[in-house]
Amino acid sequence: MPIYEFHCNRCNKDFEMLIIGSDKPSCPVCKTDDIHKLMSACGFTSKGEQGQTTRASAGQSSCAGCSAGSCASCGH
Ligand SMILES: [Zn+2]
Repeated sequence: MPIYEFHCNRCNKDFEMLIIGSDKPSCPVCKTDDIHKLMSACGFTSKGEQGQTTRASAGQSSCAGCSAGSCASCGH
Protein backbone atom coordinates (compact mmCIF):
# COMPACT_ATOMS: atom_id res chain seq x y z
CA MET A 1 0.00 0.00 0.00
CA PRO A 2 1.55 3.31 -1.05
CA ILE A 3 1.13 5.15 2.21
CA TYR A 4 3.37 8.17 2.52
CA GLU A 5 4.06 10.49 5.40
CA PHE A 6 3.75 14.20 4.79
CA HIS A 7 4.46 17.38 6.67
CA CYS A 8 2.25 20.43 6.26
CA ASN A 9 4.26 23.60 5.76
CA ARG A 10 1.35 25.76 6.87
CA CYS A 11 0.19 24.22 10.16
CA ASN A 12 3.24 21.98 10.79
CA LYS A 13 1.06 18.92 11.05
CA ASP A 14 2.50 15.50 10.17
CA PHE A 15 0.12 13.05 8.61
CA GLU A 16 0.05 9.84 6.62
CA MET A 17 -1.90 9.54 3.42
CA LEU A 18 -2.68 6.78 0.98
CA ILE A 19 -1.66 7.96 -2.48
CA ILE A 20 -3.42 6.30 -5.40
CA GLY A 21 -2.25 7.07 -8.91
CA SER A 22 -1.42 10.73 -9.33
CA ASP A 23 -3.62 12.01 -6.52
CA LYS A 24 -2.44 15.34 -5.22
CA PRO A 25 -2.34 15.10 -1.43
CA SER A 26 -3.45 17.94 0.77
CA CYS A 27 -3.34 18.63 4.48
CA PRO A 28 -6.34 17.07 6.29
CA VAL A 29 -6.28 19.91 8.81
CA CYS A 30 -6.00 23.12 6.80
CA LYS A 31 -6.55 21.66 3.31
CA THR A 32 -3.50 23.28 1.80
CA ASP A 33 -1.36 21.47 -0.74
CA ASP A 34 1.71 23.26 0.59
CA ILE A 35 3.15 20.05 1.99
CA HIS A 36 6.21 17.93 1.46
CA LYS A 37 6.77 14.19 1.64
CA LEU A 38 8.78 12.75 4.49
CA MET A 39 10.98 9.70 4.42
CA SER A 40 8.75 7.25 6.24
CA ALA A 41 11.00 4.18 6.26
CA CYS A 42 10.99 2.62 9.71
CA GLY A 43 9.95 5.80 11.45
CA PHE A 44 13.02 7.82 10.54
CA THR A 45 11.17 11.10 10.62
CA SER A 46 12.39 14.35 12.06
CA LYS A 47 11.08 13.13 15.39
CA GLY A 48 13.19 9.99 15.02
CA GLU A 49 16.32 12.03 14.48
CA GLN A 50 15.69 13.86 17.71
CA GLY A 51 15.31 10.51 19.43
CA GLN A 52 18.66 9.40 18.08
CA THR A 53 20.31 12.48 19.50
CA THR A 54 18.80 11.73 22.88
CA ARG A 55 19.96 8.13 22.67
CA ALA A 56 23.52 9.08 21.77
CA SER A 57 23.83 11.31 24.81
CA ALA A 58 22.56 8.58 27.14
CA GLY A 59 25.90 6.82 27.24
CA GLN A 60 25.40 5.57 30.78
CA SER A 61 22.67 3.19 29.73
CA SER A 62 23.49 -0.47 30.00
CA CYS A 63 22.33 -0.93 26.44
CA ALA A 64 24.07 0.68 23.48
CA GLY A 65 20.98 0.36 21.35
CA CYS A 66 18.49 2.25 23.43
CA SER A 67 18.17 4.69 26.29
CA ALA A 68 15.86 2.50 28.35
CA GLY A 69 17.53 0.69 31.22
CA SER A 70 15.35 -2.36 30.83
CA CYS A 71 15.99 -2.60 27.09
CA ALA A 72 12.47 -3.91 26.71
CA SER A 73 11.93 -1.88 23.57
CA CYS A 74 15.00 -2.89 21.61
CA GLY A 75 15.31 -6.57 22.56
CA HIS A 76 18.91 -6.43 23.76
ZN1 LIG B 1 -2.00 21.93 7.41
